[in-house]
Amino acid sequence: MIALSHRITQLSESETLAMARKSRELKAQGFDVINLSLGEPDFFTPTYIKEAAKTAIDENYSFYTPVNGYLELRQAICNKLKRDNQLEFAPDQIVVTTGAKQALINALLCLVNPGEEVIVAAPYWVSYRDMVKLAEGEAVYVKAGIESDFKVTPEQLEAAITPKTRMFMFSSPCNPTGSVYTRQELKALAEVFERHPQVYILSDEIYEHINFSGKHESIAQFESVRERVIIINGVSKGFAMTGWRVGYLAAHIDIAKACTKLQGQFTSGTNSIAQRATIAAMDADPANTYLMLEKFRERRDLVLDLMKDIPGMITNIPEGAFYVFPNVKAYFGKTDGETVVKDAPDLCMYLLNKAQVALVPGDAFGDPECIRFSYATSNDLLVEAVARIKKALAELK
Ligand code: PMP
Ligand code: GLU
Repeated sequence: MIALSHRITQLSESETLAMARKSRELKAQGFDVINLSLGEPDFFTPTYIKEAAKTAIDENYSFYTPVNGYLELRQAICNKLKRDNQLEFAPDQIVVTTGAKQALINALLCLVNPGEEVIVAAPYWVSYRDMVKLAEGEAVYVKAGIESDFKVTPEQLEAAITPKTRMFMFSSPCNPTGSVYTRQELKALAEVFERHPQVYILSDEIYEHINFSGKHESIAQFESVRERVIIINGVSKGFAMTGWRVGYLAAHIDIAKACTKLQGQFTSGTNSIAQRATIAAMDADPANTYLMLEKFRERRDLVLDLMKDIPGMITNIPEGAFYVFPNVKAYFGKTDGETVVKDAPDLCMYLLNKAQVALVPGDAFGDPECIRFSYATSNDLLVEAVARIKKALAELK
């Protein structure tokens, strides 16, 4: 028996990746599984980005890059933040990372001391929980339900802050609920933070370009908290570049320097070719991403419409990202005569075995009454998946 560290034994496997793995295994055994577990656009990376990568190979961008990323890329990110978000950043305040995941863990490791509290808006993205553990922080979950469109209120936030609170983390547009905080809602949260200057705000904006409600709003726009906001973003979702592994953070220079020091001991600069390709993504008119946005909107409407016919599935109307997160507790305690469905993980296993559709239980995201569908797949597959789910659920009595 290998004696692994406590650090790793207390960490869970990412449930999104675990479901995706199970679904791949079943597919390899010949089962016709429809995988709605993984949040990954099904589009190919746009041609202008691929061309930039090919040019970078030919131009021999094969050496180590600066740890925080090529200056041209950090400048392109600053230009993007100004153009799209009206935010002024200098290249020294940007750190290019291996996916938004690394940007998140960098910020946690650089700002949170063991035992300090990190308030996590729940439902939350699966990896937040384990990232806080890795940083040896104490996660404090503030739960928002469907009645508030899964958004945390200023009152809830105020009540959760203690002298030990070091950070608040959330995503908008949100994975898994698709909720998008309005400018007014963010302003109200910022006003709470004004009273608590020890709290940093980790604002995950990776779904910025997948927002059906109009303009993207960042909490960093409020001057009173601006210095304490760490913006997390990247190209995985908006530019269909999940496998390229490029993310970034934008923050106060001291935070950016600390993250660069950490990264210098850990991974160094991210992949050189992917960084050059990302310059093209940042420089391009954001309208280039609207075609994908329209497709996602069409799919969201389709899935919501199909789900209306499934009794006992209650959902909000997601305004962004590409997930639906219905409450399914009406099915808990039911059986098809063979299997008893006690909870959301049981329901997901039942649907995987019976309907061959892979979903993720809400437990992974801090709401055990829900399950998550990713609708980042074709209309045909979505229609087929929901029909199979409906049939399997109808057998539960
Ligand atoms: N934040 C959220 C909310 C996500 O859904 C994801 C999943 N991709 C990430 C961060 C990590 O993104 P990346 O692929 O850039 O590491
Ligand atoms: N963010 C995606 C999801 O939530 C990708 C999976 C992952 O990185 O965990 O499904």
